[in-house]
Amino acid sequence: MLSLQNPQSSNKSKLAHTNRILLIEDEDLIRDMVTVALEEEGYEVYTANNGRSALNMLQSHDFSRAKLIPDLIILDLMLPEVNGLDICRLLRYQGDITPILVVSAKSSETDRVLGLEVGADDYLSKPFSMRELIARCRALLRRQRYTSSSPSSVQKYRDISLFPQECRVTVRGIEVNLSPKEFKLLELFMGYPRRVWSREQLIEQVWGADFLGDTKTVDVHIRWLREKLEQEPSQPEYLITVRGFGYRFG
Ligand code: CA
Repeated sequence: MLSLQNPQSSNKSKLAHTNRILLIEDEDLIRDMVTVALEEEGYEVYTANNGRSALNMLQSHDFSRAKLIPDLIILDLMLPEVNGLDICRLLRYQGDITPILVVSAKSSETDRVLGLEVGADDYLSKPFSMRELIARCRALLRRQRYTSSSPSSVQKYRDISLFPQECRVTVRGIEVNLSPKEFKLLELFMGYPRRVWSREQLIEQVWGADFLGDTKTVDVHIRWLREKLEQEPSQPEYLITVRGFGYRFG
C-alpha cells in the first residue's frame, strides 16, 4: 500500500521550493505523527509503509517524470518485504545520492554503524522527539543544498545513472568513461525515454546543425555507447534500433 499525499492545504506551500520528503515507515502511528509534524514545517511528505512499495515508487519512471523525486528520505530499518538497510544499500549502489536519515528502534552501536556504512547520512534512534527529527532533517537538507550536485537532477533508468553536473555515468554502480559526445547523446536519450530519434535529429541535437560529417557518425557513437552500457552489445536493452527510423532509449 502506498499513499501519495500532497499537502495542498498547507499554508506554507507557497514557498518557492518546497522540500519533498519520502517517509518509509510501517508503523501507522509513527508515520502519521511524523507526516503531520513535517507538513507543519512546510515540507511536502510522501509515504510508503513497506520496503517493496518504497522501492517501486522510487524506481518508477512515472514518479521521476512527475518530478516527485524526494530531497530527503526518512527510512525505518525494520520494514516488511524489503528492510531499510537493503533499501539504503541498493539506492547507493545505483548511484542515488539522496540524503537518507535512518530512524530505527535498533539503537545499538553496531546498527548505527551499519546504517552509516551502507550509505545513510544520519541515524536517529526510536523513540525520538519530533523537534530532534525536524532539526536533523533541516541539517541534512541544508548540507545537500551546498553540495555540488543536486540529487534531483540525476537521471536514472534501470541500471544506468547519469549525473549531469558531474558529467558522470554509472552502470550497475560502476563508473564508465564516456567521451563528451557519447555523454551528450546518452543525456539526450535519457531525457526522452522511448522517444524515437532519426539520425538527422540526433546530429542536430548533439553535434549541431552545422556538422559536416554524415549520419554514419551517429551509428558509430551508438555502437561505442552500447559497448560501454549494454551487457550484450549485440542484443541491446537500452539503445534500441528502430528499423527505418533511427534509435530510441529503453
Ligand atoms: Ca518498523
